[in-house]
Amino acid sequence: MERIYLDHAATTPLDPEVLDAMLPYLRDQYGNASSVHAMGRQARFAVEESRERVARCLGAEPSEIIFTSGGTESDNFALKGALSARQSENRTQLITSAAEHEAVLHPAQRLQEEGGDVVILPPTESGAVSPAQVADAIGPSTALVSLMHANNEIGTITDISAISEICDRNDVWLHCDAVQTAGLLGVNVKDLGVDLLSVSGHKFYGPKGVGCLYVRSGIELGPLMSGGSQERDRRGGTENVAGVVGMAEALARAVAEADTRTARLRALQERLIHGMQSRIDGPVVFNTPVAVEDRSETPTPHAPHIVNVSFPPVDDEPIDGEMLILNLDMRGIMVSAGSACTSGAMAPSHVLQAIGRDRATASAAVRFSLGKGNTEEEIDRAVETLAQTITRMRRSTRPAGATS
Ligand code: PLP
Repeated sequence: MERIYLDHAATTPLDPEVLDAMLPYLRDQYGNASSVHAMGRQARFAVEESRERVARCLGAEPSEIIFTSGGTESDNFALKGALSARQSENRTQLITSAAEHEAVLHPAQRLQEEGGDVVILPPTESGAVSPAQVADAIGPSTALVSLMHANNEIGTITDISAISEICDRNDVWLHCDAVQTAGLLGVNVKDLGVDLLSVSGHKFYGPKGVGCLYVRSGIELGPLMSGGSQERDRRGGTENVAGVVGMAEALARAVAEADTRTARLRALQERLIHGMQSRIDGPVVFNTPVAVEDRSETPTPHAPHIVNVSFPPVDDEPIDGEMLILNLDMRGIMVSAGSACTSGAMAPSHVLQAIGRDRATASAAVRFSLGKGNTEEEIDRAVETLAQTITRMRRSTRPAGATS
């Protein structure tokens, strides 16, 4: 059975060219970038060259890029670093949203539990926070607004540049988690107007365990990880030379091909949506704000690679989301649930709850996320398999004697 990978928002395969760029630093050029001998200098050169490449891709200066272990660390660094840096100005408040990734939401909730001043805004039904909501929430003690560019579960895009103008006017720093969009949509720190921005290598065909945080020049963040004086005292720890080389190579390739990749993904996304609308037996609710045929309004902007869909109960018989994912997996379709596994039980995702889905609908959600290697044939096969699986599951839960 040929398996079809439709889980690119979780992670992407490593590009063979990226692996080739990394291999020398895993094999022969294993020097520590802090060592002064020839092999150390070679490693240092590779790290600094990668920093320049990453900076160029994001519209930043090399000195504004700090390498980290990925999106989670970058997000934690941004939140904790910014709040601690602004304490002396009496700016202590953090504003974020209930639809953020756990890498932002959990540190924010932890700060709140510890007595910190944290405002968690409810997103609109489409999953974004509006500039007006941010303007209303900002006060004289606001230090930082942290909002994601594209939501990792439903793909909704937040208007970061409009929010940046509001933050600017109020001397509030803006952090953006661009983990789902860097290398896919034009993520340029100047155009977005952000002060801090998180990126993760494994979302654009680079290696796992490496990312970066853009820190606008003029902002001094204390280190999240103290130790050696790496990253100009901002992030201790021996540099992941092969990792940063791989991330830079992957990002440069992604940025060079962004328009082509995005156009292809959009076409596949539309094919998938159309296929679901025409083939699925029973009700289908799109959690991604896509242009659904019977809806006249323009959909909220959304990422080209994510389609999150729910299958609400029929005759009060819900579809078990976990069972649906497992059934699809058995038939070769790899997707993610729109729910998180907490203490062994499937809990509906915080994002779907935040956009107002009821528990039964939120629990039967599936996220399809497309990648540059997917084909139209794969999309058609995924739709067919999904349609058959839903029909079978609905039939098996239908009460005996029911005909509809
Ligand atoms: N932020 C978003 C929006 C993500 O989608 C992810 C990963 O799924 C992360 C942060 C965490 O990134 P990493 O896996 O590199 O720690």
